[in-house]
Amino acid sequence: MRNGVIGLATFVSVAAGAGDDYHLQPVPVGDSAQVFVGKTEGFARGNGGNIVNTGFIVGTDGVIVIDSGPSRAYGEQQRAAIEKQTALPIRQVFITHAHPDHFLGDQAYSGIAISALPKTIAAIRDHGEALSDNLYRLLGGWMLGTRLVPPDHAAQPGTVIVAGRKLRLIAAQGHTDADLMIFDEATRTLFAGDLVFFQRAPTTPNANIEQWLSTLDTIDQLDFQYLVPGHGPIVQDHAAIAQTRDYLRWLSTTLHNAATRGWDIQEVMQTPIPERFRSLSVLDQEFPRSVTHLYPDIELNVLPKQTAAKHE
Ligand SMILES: [Zn+2]
Repeated sequence: MRNGVIGLATFVSVAAGAGDDYHLQPVPVGDSAQVFVGKTEGFARGNGGNIVNTGFIVGTDGVIVIDSGPSRAYGEQQRAAIEKQTALPIRQVFITHAHPDHFLGDQAYSGIAISALPKTIAAIRDHGEALSDNLYRLLGGWMLGTRLVPPDHAAQPGTVIVAGRKLRLIAAQGHTDADLMIFDEATRTLFAGDLVFFQRAPTTPNANIEQWLSTLDTIDQLDFQYLVPGHGPIVQDHAAIAQTRDYLRWLSTTLHNAATRGWDIQEVMQTPIPERFRSLSVLDQEFPRSVTHLYPDIELNVLPKQTAAKHE
């Protein structure tokens, strides 16, 4: 029996050791915000799900964490990396939205308030287990010991003081139906969550493209010095917003035109992609996924109008 336990422990450590170190190194943004910049890839065993930007802000009497990453191991390593930078306690974790690469590290913050918009909390409660199961399939050993911990505090949009830091919490939608942005007033750093992607094709499993485009107009008006996209490099200008908008507009127009022409989904998948998007990473995976997510509804919206028009 004892041997069995030792054997199991050995197995677990070997399985985890196959890929358990995310090598998280924070990148300073301004003088007190820092970002763990993820790879611009899809989920894969080679990256352990470290495909997302998470971050933290060191306030006067504590630390604010933004998103906890794709797994318990990520959350724990993120916390350890933060604690190497400062002795101040972590006061609050904000979860930007209900996608699994952003909240499955919550376990590492037991006892600390984890805040998200109410619809995000509901979506994580309803779908978090299924999202987590899917990551287990995609990432294997990286997910060991990960279990769902939904956020427990409802974030209120507006200005709040956390850890001595003035933050603007901005509730928006489009990438999902509840997307929280965190604007740090002192450094004018905007953590935009997945409302902004850069140099990586946006993901759309829960997107409303028209709402998303309208939210991008709002983001364009914000007086940020640094913008941290959910995926892709940090920027100091509006290039990432412009690129996200350009891609989403093209995607929407392409799908609407295809529906008007009566194309089936396989024909839409063959649409040539403009040269200017060819450099976006994971485009070849994300474009077909987006067609699958978005085209059936667009077809349904276009077809009745055409049928009605024929009878007019
Ligand atoms: Zn997302």
